[in-house]
Amino acid sequence: MENKEKPRVYLVSLGCSKNTVDSERVLKLLEEKYKPTTDPSEADLILVNTCGFIRPAVEESINTILQLADYKKPGAKLVAFGCFVKRYMEELKKELHEADILLPTEPYKEICNLFNLKGCKLNQRELLTPRSYAYLKISEGCNRTCSFCAIPKIRGKFRSKPIKELVEEAKYLIDTYGIKELVIVSQDTSYYGKDLYGKFALPQLLDELQKLPVKWIRLHYLYPAKEVYTLVDYLKKDSTKVLPYIDMPIQHISEKVLKDMRRGHSKEFLLQLLNHIRETLGENSILRTTVIVGFPTEGEREFKELLKFIEEFQFDYLGVFKYYHEEDTPAWEKFEDTVEEEVKEERKRLLETVQSYISEERLKRFLETEQEILIDGLDEDFGMVPVGRAWFQAPEVDGQTYIDIYPEEETENLKLKEGDLIKGFLTEQEGVDFKANFLTKL
Ligand code: SF4
Repeated sequence: MENKEKPRVYLVSLGCSKNTVDSERVLKLLEEKYKPTTDPSEADLILVNTCGFIRPAVEESINTILQLADYKKPGAKLVAFGCFVKRYMEELKKELHEADILLPTEPYKEICNLFNLKGCKLNQRELLTPRSYAYLKISEGCNRTCSFCAIPKIRGKFRSKPIKELVEEAKYLIDTYGIKELVIVSQDTSYYGKDLYGKFALPQLLDELQKLPVKWIRLHYLYPAKEVYTLVDYLKKDSTKVLPYIDMPIQHISEKVLKDMRRGHSKEFLLQLLNHIRETLGENSILRTTVIVGFPTEGEREFKELLKFIEEFQFDYLGVFKYYHEEDTPAWEKFEDTVEEEVKEERKRLLETVQSYISEERLKRFLETEQEILIDGLDEDFGMVPVGRAWFQAPEVDGQTYIDIYPEEETENLKLKEGDLIKGFLTEQEGVDFKANFLTKL
């Protein structure tokens, strides 16, 4: 009766790692009555967790829903939820007939009611990432007012998850899936606790998470704020498992553009904070950031200022995004989308080209070193070679490390799999990817 008869569910999770966590929760809720399938044409229930903060994400969400609607077998239901649906709910109710049910973000209660589910434990998840790491979403929403961003309108005000619940969730992920790495995500990790505890409580949360049998704790989405100084001190003094990996989007460096983006701080503030991070944590730390090119008030001079800064400061990793003129944002009200599309493309291409050399050069410091490497799986494109990451490589956004194991060494119990931790010697580098000789299993 159990699995054989259970109807099938097929889920696509679009967008960011926060959406991945929401999708994992929804899948776990449905486990009571549905069994996952990887074939949408045999699914009784098709779910699309959409993304909707910029136009390309909206287009991808629409295309995914329309494509999956073609797979729907008779009697099957297609449920679309998440940011795109939340943002355009009223229009979609009238126009998107391909979806049978439209739900907002975090639709746990709705899903439980709709499918009459009993056991709604929200800290349990059906992991969609390799069993080496899991995202831990520490809050929802955002209280910042960046003029280009629609997320506060979609996801609402900042709401921290209590430390106790997050520790339980992390314990569940470690006990159930054996994950070795927790990747902390939110819209604004620098704000954690300020709503719930009236103060920045990330150090307290990290103290509790470090007590768990996990190897690495990685922080993403730090907003450049004074709280980052506290965090850097914490990394310097109290961290045993929290990686010296700072992911802090700056979005721009020109005083004028930062002001028009309503980032709430000056160029000087950013420079001081970035230099403090580098001086305090030194070369055995990683600095990743993100910038936006083509903001309406970014003229040639402002772009050149950004390019020069990126060339001089030398981040280890850089993400470059084009500006999208989004309704429901302050920038939409105040500015026209003045920068031509091809100019945005050219600025993005130029920055990415410059950064590709910088990243390769910066990461050279890890070449010919021994590193602990967390295996994420076997790479189908390279003859099922084990592939993983060293501490300085975040999942999905940075490079990977491919493991060389000499045939004579590859005994049965050495067959590496996701979640294994090994020691390797980094022998080769190509861009941000590395090759490593297998040394031993940890
Ligand atoms: S910090 Fe700014 S860019 Fe990030 S989600 Fe909040 S408003 Fe958007």
